[in-house]
Amino acid sequence: MQSSVLALNRAYAPVHVVDVKRAFTLLYKGQAEVVHVEDGQYLTFNFESWLELSEAKTALEDVCEWDDWVRTVTFAIQVPRVIRLLDYDRVPRNVVKFNRRNVFLRDENRCQYCTKKFGTHHLSLDHVIPRSRGGPSTWDNIVCACLRCNVRKGGRTPQEAGMKLFKAPSKPHRNPSLAHQLSSQKYSAWKNFLD
Ligand SMILES: [Zn+2]
Repeated sequence: MQSSVLALNRAYAPVHVVDVKRAFTLLYKGQAEVVHVEDGQYLTFNFESWLELSEAKTALEDVCEWDDWVRTVTFAIQVPRVIRLLDYDRVPRNVVKFNRRNVFLRDENRCQYCTKKFGTHHLSLDHVIPRSRGGPSTWDNIVCACLRCNVRKGGRTPQEAGMKLFKAPSKPHRNPSLAHQLSSQKYSAWKNFLD
């Protein structure tokens, strides 16, 4: 069960991404409901009615290839893509954590100098304006660079090193891992609640 479920607050604003197990626990306890988007309409289900819908879908074999299912001995239930937390009123702070992982995700593991993609072990973080010149460790001064390009650039600015940035770095609007999931058809339902 590698899928992710988008959790909304009571006002339908996205607050977290939870795993499938957590989503079903919340549903089963009645602390959340499923928000299912169909033909532009939001339909909501509690655990029992979602199970009924799942059973109907199985009977009709109305299952899309990117749907996920949890199967037990006695029943099969579809994994929801979006749930709404019924006791949660807080409005999330939309903060994207600045860390290595999120910089790599933002840059899609692409070295911003030679534009090739690498595994994370072959990548490093590069200060565009070098630290020695007062370049800060911020979203707009840090890029993903392969080890070779990083060494080549050394303590110079891209201009001095004769290297060009693939893309000017900036702070992502949303969590880069979320952006990554949004690009897949599987999570298309999330688009209704983000932006
Ligand atoms: Zn490179």
